[in-house]
Amino acid sequence: MPNFDAGMRSRSLGRTFLIAAFAMMLGYYLSSAGRGWFSSGPVVRNFETMNTYGRITLPEGSGVTIDPELAVAEAEAAVARVNTLMSPFGDASDIKRLNETPAGTWIAVDPLTWRVVMESLRWHRLSGGAFDPTVGPVKALFTFDGRETDDFPSDDALADARSRVGADKLRFEREGMRLSWAADGMRLDLGAIAKGFAADLAMESLIRNGARHALVDIGGELRAVGGKPGDAREPWRAGIRHPRDDDVIERFELVDGAVATSGDYERFFVHDGVRYEHIIDPRTGLPMTEGPASVTVIHPTSCLAADALATTMCVLGERGGEAFLRDQALGLLSSGVRVVMLLAEEGGVRRVEMLVDAEGGVTVESAAASLR
Ligand code: ADP
Ligand code: MG
Repeated sequence: MPNFDAGMRSRSLGRTFLIAAFAMMLGYYLSSAGRGWFSSGPVVRNFETMNTYGRITLPEGSGVTIDPELAVAEAEAAVARVNTLMSPFGDASDIKRLNETPAGTWIAVDPLTWRVVMESLRWHRLSGGAFDPTVGPVKALFTFDGRETDDFPSDDALADARSRVGADKLRFEREGMRLSWAADGMRLDLGAIAKGFAADLAMESLIRNGARHALVDIGGELRAVGGKPGDAREPWRAGIRHPRDDDVIERFELVDGAVATSGDYERFFVHDGVRYEHIIDPRTGLPMTEGPASVTVIHPTSCLAADALATTMCVLGERGGEAFLRDQALGLLSSGVRVVMLLAEEGGVRRVEMLVDAEGGVTVESAAASLR
């Protein structure tokens, strides 16, 4: 099965699962041939987007009221639209336009971009600055290619980049949905939240077309409704990858909800024996070095929130993350939000699970990680 396995971001592993999925889908397709295209499926659509892969799955009997191929194509178009508007590149990108605009000039953006930017500013404010969509200038000084390197930016370069970080320097005007920088050289980067939003938007499109069973996967960020192919009464299955090898360390079931993972195992580099990850700690102005190896968030309704929270928890770590959950349990978050943090420690991986309960309390369990 493909990414009914969340957090499986290793490309090679992903491909293995993909082949299995195709074989399975083909089987279903053949067995359902002749039953009419309207109510049957399954349809699996794979594509490249947002610097990663995308996959949309409609199981047999998904409930869509139009041709399932068309429903999936519409959902893919929703993802493509988010990519076009919010990628750092491309002439149709609001973000590129904003990032090339001198301070003081207002840029009108698409309502979708506006929504995501406003969400990112809300996360910035309520996370005490741990989530910061303006860390771009610092990130640009590094290459997170998984390699060991002797290179490291100079103190001057770092100081200059840091002076150009700060979400408080992004001005906004609700009327006309306009954005403007208060200083030159700033960069907006929605990399920690846009994939989650794209998954939500694709799912909204599928649901509008009647889907009661569907899965959207944007580079490991998942949004699910209903159950999986073959037997829609069965939940989707998702997994968390071991942060230091290709194994799946944990499997869980997903019916309605979203999953997002952030971690130090996919985009990082090693310098002087230290692993630097592509999440920037806005407090130090450096890539994270001692954060959790991975954070997986399971959210009952929103992949955008799961995505933003996974990144935020990476920055805040175990203690700060727990305090943030308690603080925001009934604010940014909602009951049922579950966080699984894997911490690479001497002697092995420790697993910490935090769960927001119905009263807004947070329960925490910590134990050595073992295969589940
Ligand atoms: P992934 O892209 O693997 O899903 P994340 O969702 O954690 O991982 O997003 C990481 C990306 O978010 C970085 O590549 C960068 O573009 C951006 N980013 C880095 N640090 C922060 C931060 N502190 N707050 C918000 N966005 C960040
Ligand atoms: Mg994220």
